[in-house]
Amino acid sequence: MCGIFGYVGKQNNAAQIVLEGLRLLEYRGYDSWGIAVKSGKKLMVNKQVGKIESAKTTLSASFLGIGHTRWATHGGVTENNAHPHLDCKQEIALVHNGIVENFVALKEELIIRGHSFNSETDTEVIVHLIEEYLKKEGFASSVRDSFNRLKGLNAIVVAYAVSRQIIACKTGSSLVVGQKNSDFYIASDALGITDHTKKLFFLKDGEMVILGEKLQLISIANGKKLKANFETIHWKQEDSKIGNFNHFMEKEIYEQPRVVRTIARTADQDIISLSRTIKRARGTFFIGAGTAFHACLAGTYLFSGIAKIHVNTAVASEFNYLEDFLTKESLIIALSQSGETIDVLEPLNRAKGKGSRIVALTNVLGSSLYRLADHSLILGAGVEKAVASTKAYTAKLALLLMLAHAMNGEIKKAKKNLLETSKEIQRLLSAPSRKNIRKIALVLKSSEHIYTIGRGVSYPTALEAALKIKEVSYIHTEGLAGGELKHGTLALVEKGTPCIVFAPNDDTYEAMISNAIEIKSRGGVIIGISTKKSSVFDYFIEVRDMGWARIIAQIIPAQLLAYYLAVERGCDPDKPRNLAKSVTVK
Ligand code: GLU
Repeated sequence: MCGIFGYVGKQNNAAQIVLEGLRLLEYRGYDSWGIAVKSGKKLMVNKQVGKIESAKTTLSASFLGIGHTRWATHGGVTENNAHPHLDCKQEIALVHNGIVENFVALKEELIIRGHSFNSETDTEVIVHLIEEYLKKEGFASSVRDSFNRLKGLNAIVVAYAVSRQIIACKTGSSLVVGQKNSDFYIASDALGITDHTKKLFFLKDGEMVILGEKLQLISIANGKKLKANFETIHWKQEDSKIGNFNHFMEKEIYEQPRVVRTIARTADQDIISLSRTIKRARGTFFIGAGTAFHACLAGTYLFSGIAKIHVNTAVASEFNYLEDFLTKESLIIALSQSGETIDVLEPLNRAKGKGSRIVALTNVLGSSLYRLADHSLILGAGVEKAVASTKAYTAKLALLLMLAHAMNGEIKKAKKNLLETSKEIQRLLSAPSRKNIRKIALVLKSSEHIYTIGRGVSYPTALEAALKIKEVSYIHTEGLAGGELKHGTLALVEKGTPCIVFAPNDDTYEAMISNAIEIKSRGGVIIGISTKKSSVFDYFIEVRDMGWARIIAQIIPAQLLAYYLAVERGCDPDKPRNLAKSVTVK
C-alpha cells in the first residue's frame, strides 16, 4: 500500500525528482520512506522513519533513482524495514508494493543458500532472489525469473548498480510510466508523473518494463516482447491547497455543500444512462470497502425505498468469495474514492472474467478502477487528501440518491432534494452549530467507547459515523442497527457510556427513541442527532427533515464531531496512524 517512484534519464538530480514524486504519493503510505540512487558502480541509499512532508535528501547527483513511501504489512516501522531493500552485495536496490505470500518458504531457501537478511519484511526475499539468479543470468531475466516465483499481487521496481536501467514488474498494484524525450519516470499513479510529462503508459498485470536509453516491454510469463501503447492524457491533475483551514479533513467537510450542489446540477445524463444499464441487468451488486461500503449499503436502502428495486451489496473484500453466481448479465457497481483499492479491483477482475459488466463510481480519473470498468462515473468531489473520507462519501450518496430516483424517471425530485440539502449542510457548518458540536466533543473526548445507532436508511449512517470517529480520534466506536443493541452490545453500556442516536423524522423515530430510553435506563449518555428534540437526549444536534437526503445531512454533524474529537485528543486527523488513503494491499 505504498507509493513507488523511479527516474532514469538525462537529468542529474534523480534523488530530488524521486523525493518530490514520493511527496505526491504519500497518501498511499506514510510510515517511512527511502530512496536509492546510482553513484558510479555503487548504490547510495537514504531511508527514514516518519512522514516525508518536509524531509530532505542528501544523496549525490545521479541520473537514476528509485524510491518508496511505505505502509508496513510485514515487519515493524523501522529504518531497516523501510524500502529500498538491498541484496547481500548491496548492488541491487528494490522497492515493492504488495505482499509476497510465499515469502517464508523463499526466505528459508535463500538462507540455506547463504543469504543474510537485514529486515523483517517479505520484500527482502525478492532482492536476494534476484541476486541468486544474477549468478547465472543477466539483469532483466533475473528480475523476470524472480518475479515469476512470487505468489500474491505485487509490483516491484529494481535498480542494479552495474546497469543503467530500471526494471519494473507488476501483477497487482498499479504502475505508470511517463516519457519525456530521453527521460523516463515510473510511479504508482499518474499523479506523481504528470508534472513532468503527459505521455503515459499504464503497465498491465503480467508486464515487465525495462527503462534506460529506451523502453522495452516484456511479458513476465514467457519473456516475449510486447508493444507499449503510450497515450497522451488530457486531463489535468488537480491539486488541493489547505487555504485557511487547519486540516484537509476540515476543509473537505466544508466543501460538501458545493459538492452536493454541483452533482445535483450536472450529473443527470450520466445517471440516466446508468439507470438504463441497471434496468437491462439481471442482478445488480454494489461493492465497496470502508466508507464506500457504507455508501453501497445506503444505496440498497435508497433503491428499496425510492425505486422499489432490490440491489445487492457486499463488502468488496468478501465479494471474491460470493461471486460464483455471476453471469454475463450481472452488473457490478464498484464504489471507490481512489479507484486503487485492491479489495475492489481483485473481485472485479474475476467478475470481468465471467463477462459481467462493471460500472465504476470513483473520484479519480485515470485510476485503475476507472480504466478497468466498462463505464465510469466520476464523483466530482475534487481531490480528497484527508485519509478519512468525507466529501467523497456524500458525493457517492448524492449520486445514488439521483440514481434511485432516475429508476422511476423522477430525477428532478432528487435534484430539488439535493439542492435543499446543500443549504442544510451549510447551516450545519455555521458557527452556532459548530459551537454545539465542539461542546459535545469536549464532553466525549475522554470516552473509552462510543456507540452509534440508527435504523433503516440511518443504519449505514450509524456505521459511517462510528468509522469516522474511530479512525481519526482512536476512540473505540461501534455502529449498530438500533434493533441489534439488545442482542448483545447493550451488555457493554454502563454509567456514562455515550451513545449517538440517529432519529430522523421517518418511521424509525419512535423505535429509536425507545432504544435511546433503553440505553439511558442503564446509565448511558444520549447524543441525539434528530429532527426534533426529545427529553431522552442529554445533548441534541438538530438536522432538519431532508426527506431521503437525510442520509446526507445527518452524517455532517458526525463528521464534524469526529474531526473535533481528533483535534481535542491531539491526533492528526489528516494522517491517522496505521492507515493510508489508498489501500493497495489485501
Ligand atoms: N509488504 C511490504 C512491506 O511490508 C510492502 C508494503 C507496501 O506495499 O508498502 O514492507
